Amino acid sequence: MEIQNQYYMDHAATTPLSKEVLNAMMPYLTVEYGNASTIYMPGQRARHAIDESRRTIAAALSAKPSEIYFTSGGSESDNWALIGAAEAGEKKLRQNAVDALKTSEEIEKIHGHIITDQIEHHAILNTCAYLEERGFNVTYLPVDREGHVDPEAVKEAIRPDTLLVSIMTANNEIGTIEPIQEIGRLLKGYEAETGQRILFHTDAVQAFGHIPLKVSELGVDLMSASAHKLNGPKGVGFLFVRQDIQLPSFVHGGAQERGHRAGTENVAGIVGFAKATEVAMRDMTLRINTEISVRDHMIQRILNEIPDTLLHGDSHKRLPNNINILFEHIEGETLLLLLNEKGVYASAGSACSSGSLDPSHVLLALGDSTEDAAGSIRFTIGQETTIEDADVVIDILKPLVAYLRAC
Ligand SMILES: *Cc1c(COP(=O)(O)O)cnc(C)c1O
Repeated sequence: MEIQNQYYMDHAATTPLSKEVLNAMMPYLTVEYGNASTIYMPGQRARHAIDESRRTIAAALSAKPSEIYFTSGGSESDNWALIGAAEAGEKKLRQNAVDALKTSEEIEKIHGHIITDQIEHHAILNTCAYLEERGFNVTYLPVDREGHVDPEAVKEAIRPDTLLVSIMTANNEIGTIEPIQEIGRLLKGYEAETGQRILFHTDAVQAFGHIPLKVSELGVDLMSASAHKLNGPKGVGFLFVRQDIQLPSFVHGGAQERGHRAGTENVAGIVGFAKATEVAMRDMTLRINTEISVRDHMIQRILNEIPDTLLHGDSHKRLPNNINILFEHIEGETLLLLLNEKGVYASAGSACSSGSLDPSHVLLALGDSTEDAAGSIRFTIGQETTIEDADVVIDILKPLVAYLRAC
């Protein structure tokens, strides 16, 4: 049987583990198996490896090592940020109500308000839905045709009981980079004016290691990231928590992560995450330039050579690796299956919604019709994707689109 070439075009779903990362992890998967909570030498070596990793990741964000908490990934970090901020905020609102001599009946009705947007990852949206069930109010801000959240709309949505704003750094389906710095500045200004402290969280899972991010410049209090989106291992992430914030613990048990996230540390995963971060920071400029040239080449060729196509998202304020195209009059799922047969692996909408026939909530929020959303394909490239790969993929894609449209 002929072995066909494979073209992995789904780096937003996950990325391959890099050799450098695997090599860094290997000792902690084999000989260095000590538990970092023990006082003998192997345990202390594991402790040291975790401390070093925390320093590497903090430095990449211009954060303090004590502001980084390791988790099991992006989903856990998002859950912790939202549920933790909501619970802490609710407690404060209720304490104020007690001080104002409200009745216990009135106090029980107090929960709090959260502002997010319609194109967040399900790790955010479904956590918000859970909080709504518990009585919290959530505002889901709309986005414009290219997927931008309007900072002014964030400001207008603020209520006296608003506890938290959560807006993603960059969208996983369409690649649009959100105006995080502007929103951070606006929330700071609002606090200076009114004294109301509103926490600001960003899901940076698609952005961390891909574009430069400094927590102080962005003005965020909480940030989520995940190793497997930057050539690190699956099952490890972090939550950045600004040092002046008291976030309640999320996983209860032992004293790991300074008593905030119990569980024997995933030492190999943490070391791998730090290595992936180090490599991402070291190679960032080169990777951004390479990816943007491949990305824009693909976008231009598709738009020029395949009729009735349209680019989703912002063409400039966009992740370097994201290409999301609306192919009119086709079924994206069918196109994906045909591409799969040719060894081209891409995605229709997000990885979580593919497999189900629900149109992408992100594309609907942009204003796509159900049909247009269903005809959209996301290609996300990696640092190893070349112009030649892109050309092969487009040469495979063109006749398939023509074939489906003729059916
Ligand atoms: C992948 C992803 C997540 C989930 O991260 P996991 O580590 O897979 O749990 C959350 N948010 C965004 C934007 C993502 O792309």
